[in-house]
Amino acid sequence: MKVLVIGAGGREHAIAWALRKSSRVTDVVCAPGNGGIASVARCVPASPKDLNDLLRVVNEEAPDLTVVGPELPLSLGFVDELKRRGLAVFGPTRAAAMLETSKAFAKRFMQRHQIPTANYAVCTTRSEALESLHLFHLPVVIKADGLASGKGVLICQTKREADDAIAGLFSGKLLGCAETAVVIEECLSGEEVSFLLLSDGKHVAPLIPAQDHKRLGEGDTGPNTGGMGVYTTDSILDQKMREWVVNHIAQPTIDGIAAEDAPFVGVLYCGLMMTAKGPMVLEYNTRFGDPETQAILVRLESDLIDAIEASVEGRLSETEMRWNAGASACVVAASSGYPGSYTTGHPISGLEAARLPGVEVFHAGTSLVDGVYLTGGGRVLAVTAAAESLRAALDSAYEAMGRIHFEGMYFRRDIGHRALAMR
Ligand code: AMP
Repeated sequence: MKVLVIGAGGREHAIAWALRKSSRVTDVVCAPGNGGIASVARCVPASPKDLNDLLRVVNEEAPDLTVVGPELPLSLGFVDELKRRGLAVFGPTRAAAMLETSKAFAKRFMQRHQIPTANYAVCTTRSEALESLHLFHLPVVIKADGLASGKGVLICQTKREADDAIAGLFSGKLLGCAETAVVIEECLSGEEVSFLLLSDGKHVAPLIPAQDHKRLGEGDTGPNTGGMGVYTTDSILDQKMREWVVNHIAQPTIDGIAAEDAPFVGVLYCGLMMTAKGPMVLEYNTRFGDPETQAILVRLESDLIDAIEASVEGRLSETEMRWNAGASACVVAASSGYPGSYTTGHPISGLEAARLPGVEVFHAGTSLVDGVYLTGGGRVLAVTAAAESLRAALDSAYEAMGRIHFEGMYFRRDIGHRALAMR
């Protein structure tokens, strides 16, 4: 079976790596991929931002199945177009992906379907937003409606900060393009959990829960990033809580979006805050998270392609995903300056020496030039390890990280710190 993976990051490296392990998958192609992905897949040039270019790749490669990594192709209607052509594709349609592509849609959807989430107001003008702001206590969360690569959420401690955030989003000063709607939201507190699941449009198959580290700095300080590290353990959510999340959040979301004529096939990522009042949805993503996917897939014992195929074919209820017991950890090595501006093209050394038992070094942004891996992005590597305990997984990941070097390399040394402190 030939599988085409769309995307170019650590998430796609992990997906391609997991697919490669399947005896049923003979050919993995990644468009466009990156230097590291080329070790597990044939990479072909493509622009994930250009629908026609992606369709060209599908025409040329004629895969048996296409797996979409990032959100942008979903928002362009890539899945809709493949379905129209009768092709097998894993990912939601543009309508179902609105759970991620419009935060205003997602909030109203959750309200319609009684899915727990923070109180909110959707505002379409600056003056309306400033009026609504009075209804909220400080701190308050201001969110851009549209996709913003993790930069569209501002937690404002003062009224002045909130005013500035609203002005900056509507004017386009903050994100580079003017928002037509802004969500004002009650600020929740608690532990955050990433709860991902596969769906075939009706049924859900939860993946193991993960805990992300979004802030750049140690001790969860500094600016938000795409994610600096993540871990999974069997104790992030106990079995009872997982069932609660499935019954009150995951399944109602899948049922709700199906009832709105947009059945969801693919990966649904529920970003949860475990508040004193119970779990609440902070956001939905409609695809595999990055770097959650890396930490989750290293613990998948069963075949990823079986679960993906079952989702695409509407028979997820017949499939069982099996997981290795224990824990995993993923630590991201980033370029100095990220999430702001950074330089690329620096040689990476030590990748061979970092091949330790239980460790996978997924490439988030690299190129391979004349046999040398070069840095090619803000997030460069996702050093991931699975082991019998979180302590052991972290030790392996950091041991491997210590053997890798590139100019300006930065990584957090405290991934998993809260979980270790709770022991
Ligand atoms: P999002 O892109 O919506 O996941 O938001 C990014 C991050 O902002 C989340 O992971 C949370 O840390 C934080 N956040 C989003 N919404 C809220 C909220 N209502 N209360 C507190 N923190 C939030």
